[in-house]
Amino acid sequence: MESPLSKDDDFKEKLSPEAYRVLRQNGTERPFSSGLNQETRSGTYHCAACDTALFAHTAKFDAGCGWPSFDQEIDSDNIQRITDTSHGMIRVEIRCTECDSHLGHVFPDGPTETGTRHCVNGVSLSFKPD
Ligand SMILES: [Zn+2]
Repeated sequence: MESPLSKDDDFKEKLSPEAYRVLRQNGTERPFSSGLNQETRSGTYHCAACDTALFAHTAKFDAGCGWPSFDQEIDSDNIQRITDTSHGMIRVEIRCTECDSHLGHVFPDGPTETGTRHCVNGVSLSFKPD
């Protein structure tokens, strides 16, 4: 049986220190720091830790918040929602179902048809152009 410690070491090896901090330690990257904010090509956004497909480029929109934002997930089974009461706020955290890594938060105030805004750390994503 795989121990949690060895799994954590795998992530440490695979991820940059910043990605490790965000994905595995519930960190948040600085707003407007991710190159993916400006990414407009066709493609798919995957979990940077385990490569699960999370968002399609068609779901991406500019929320002006400084983090890549998406109005729906590729498959709701791939992303779990957890109530987060840290920092004195009630927010809904989103995590990759497959590897349990922190992605960002989801808010019910999206400007598009779905009304949903997934606010995702760019460092938690790896973009694969079509
Ligand atoms: Zn993952």
